[in-house]
Amino acid sequence: MLAAVLHGAHDLRVEHKDDRGLAAGEARVRVAAGGICGSDLSYFNKGGVGDFRVREPLTLGHEVSGTVVELAPDASGPPVGTRVAVNPSRPCLRCRYCRAGRGNLCSAMRFLGSAAPMPHVQGGFSECLVVRADQCVPVPDALSFRLAACAEPLAVALHAVARAGSLVGRQVLIAGAGPIGLLCLAAARHAGAAGVAIVDLCEPPLEIARRMGASDARDVSGDPETLDRLAAERGGFDVAIEATGAASSVARMPHLVRPGGRIVQLGMLPPGEVPLPVNLLMAREIDLIGSFRFHESFDIAVAALAAGRIDVTPILSASFALQDANAAFLMAGDRQRAIKVHLEIG
Ligand SMILES: [Zn+2]
Ligand SMILES: [Zn+2]
Repeated sequence: MLAAVLHGAHDLRVEHKDDRGLAAGEARVRVAAGGICGSDLSYFNKGGVGDFRVREPLTLGHEVSGTVVELAPDASGPPVGTRVAVNPSRPCLRCRYCRAGRGNLCSAMRFLGSAAPMPHVQGGFSECLVVRADQCVPVPDALSFRLAACAEPLAVALHAVARAGSLVGRQVLIAGAGPIGLLCLAAARHAGAAGVAIVDLCEPPLEIARRMGASDARDVSGDPETLDRLAAERGGFDVAIEATGAASSVARMPHLVRPGGRIVQLGMLPPGEVPLPVNLLMAREIDLIGSFRFHESFDIAVAALAAGRIDVTPILSASFALQDANAAFLMAGDRQRAIKVHLEIG
């Protein structure tokens, strides 16, 4: 089968790879669509993401949808022929975090397309993909494969919004209008926020944010005071979701939320440490909490997409054949032109 395999930074090869047999409990999915994520782009551009480095050839991709084509005899999952969104998260189901219902913190996680463990977990930008059958979540025929592949980033956003606590009637700031920031906007509105302001250093994604119902969408590249003014107009934001992963943005957040407010750190930073105005956190009793991937929100994302309760179509930018993966990655990395780019596979 063909797969988009990363051999090192800027060395992505579409090449033949052997498919593997099914182990107990597994299913084979014929992949139809795969979304290029910020983490895929980071692997492509830098050969790593966060603290994880690519140490052997890695098939990228974890935002995938397709059709179940084979089931292990003992597997309980959607039958052959079912269209599914693939949950890229494969927690062990046995560790203390899994047993506590926090599978995203699993100490033996096998997340698709991840260089965290060695050997790496190969990803889904391939014609076929073997996963545990319970990773296959059925989607209705009316939902396109590209939209179904958005379940994963939407799940990330829904999880971050859940970590923020109740947003009903709240004023929310989202830093960063990349795909995840824009999906956090959709998720925060869905969760009942009174207003969602979103800021970025680039104008085209802010135009998408306005179409998605942002109460304020500002380019803060020219005038750094804009952010302070936005916060002051509201007496401070109730909640800030940091979705840029830039150290300078992280350090700004405590200045922008009101006393008793909450900051959700969702953006993934480069390795190393970041200065933070900790006295502000202390004196204002601001909660600073992390949000990493998702757990039960994957199924919630699929249900919201299937029912049309959350519309993510404004983030869809373009799609490319698997053979043109390099062109797709170049476009996905151009924030002037693209939010979410998909590979159409098979
Ligand atoms: Zn993703
Ligand atoms: Zn576990």
